[in-house]
Amino acid sequence: MDIADFRHQAHQLVDWMADYLENVQRYPVSPQVQPGDILAQLPAQAPESGEDFAAIFQDFEQLILPGMTHWQHPRFFAYFPASTSPPSLLGEMLMATLGAQCMSWLTSPAATELEQQVMHWLRQAIELPDTFTGVIQDSASSATLCALLCAREQKSAINQQGFSQQRFRVYASTEAHASIEKAVRIAGLGSDNLVKIPVDSHFALNVDALREAIAADRAAGFTPLCVVAAWGTTSSTALDPLADLADLCQSEKLWFHVDAAYAGSAFILPEHRRLARGLERADSVVFNPHKWLRTHFDCSAYFVRDTAMLTHTLGLTPEYLKTDLDRQVHNYRDWGVPLGRRFRALKLWFVLRSYGLAELRQQLRQQIQWVQELSQQIQAHPDFEVLAPVPLNLVCFRFAPCTRDASDYEALNQALLQRLNHSGEVFMTHTRLAGTYCLRLVAGNPNTRAEDVQMAWRFIQATARDVL
Ligand code: PLP
Repeated sequence: MDIADFRHQAHQLVDWMADYLENVQRYPVSPQVQPGDILAQLPAQAPESGEDFAAIFQDFEQLILPGMTHWQHPRFFAYFPASTSPPSLLGEMLMATLGAQCMSWLTSPAATELEQQVMHWLRQAIELPDTFTGVIQDSASSATLCALLCAREQKSAINQQGFSQQRFRVYASTEAHASIEKAVRIAGLGSDNLVKIPVDSHFALNVDALREAIAADRAAGFTPLCVVAAWGTTSSTALDPLADLADLCQSEKLWFHVDAAYAGSAFILPEHRRLARGLERADSVVFNPHKWLRTHFDCSAYFVRDTAMLTHTLGLTPEYLKTDLDRQVHNYRDWGVPLGRRFRALKLWFVLRSYGLAELRQQLRQQIQWVQELSQQIQAHPDFEVLAPVPLNLVCFRFAPCTRDASDYEALNQALLQRLNHSGEVFMTHTRLAGTYCLRLVAGNPNTRAEDVQMAWRFIQATARDVL
């Protein structure tokens, strides 16, 4: 493809992209394909001779698109959203065009300094004290891994000497995300040493139980290392009590990491930031603008109190990367796991400037209000029940018709979810809370409107009647 052809194709693609964003609601939100359907249509080998872009694009439309789940669909209510926006996409286009590898200041000075400033803006927006410094990671999973590695390095010399006889412990609630256990494994600490602390009736970590677990571990000869708090658990957005956990970590001298992967975007709302009292005493905090702040994947904001600890743990400078300026600049390759880095700050910069914090706040507030109103409607319905508090824009509920025995509810709700998702009208997922199977609806997609949430509720009720 020469540049003239690129120009022509790119203009057409931009039109296609704008049409897609304008009309995404016309697609079934999730595809009705079976495993292997797409694979069976793809040639077994790469072509020997180059093909026309028109033919490639035709295959994209005919083979790939029908097999896609439309995450930007206004009635995508599953998992957590992966929100995007036009300015974010424009940032991506420029980033890809520049094709820069932003591992060091020298490899792209502007990329490094823009990241410094955008993370400074974001830190101010979420009211973290200026003792914190931010860096963009690819995912919350990577950020949590960095936190555990720093916590480990603070109490050992494992980076240099490898593992000793010391037996470390990490603590998180039974509702914590699977990425915590994965990080524990990768850090070589072992799943058996992730102590899962019970939750209270709101599905938030029980601090007394944590205190007892730490004392029992110390008595048994373990070295407690780190507490990972969830501010917004994946199942129900339960909020662990950060202030109490900060007190405990301070008195026990433990690393305090806050995983706010989804809900942390709500830190830009002063009323929600108040609910996160204690956040300012964390050692590290992660939240994902790529989930709820209109910046497409990947863009995970990681804030640490001690940057020297981070670069001591993850920095490694071979001769071929040394520069005369290393003492004066940030070399972000030393602030995370991979060497290579994308210029992610560009899209976040475009998003923050295009919308401004006021509009971003307004959208989050609306979504929270819609779901809280929905949860009241569900609760008021004689045949449905809400199964967890709704602090944000996610509601966990189940169909619980009084004409049926409670032992039937799980099968009924499984059937209901299957029908809802099969329809292509909405897409939702399930979870289990205290052993109870429940449906989970989260409205954090920028394309979702109040009507979409209400339409989903009417559709859920009608489908539940059919299931019955
Ligand atoms: N932590 C929580 C609470 C999450 O809900 C998720 C994903 O949904 C993650 C961590 C992992 O996020 P990522 O995909 O950025 O690694």
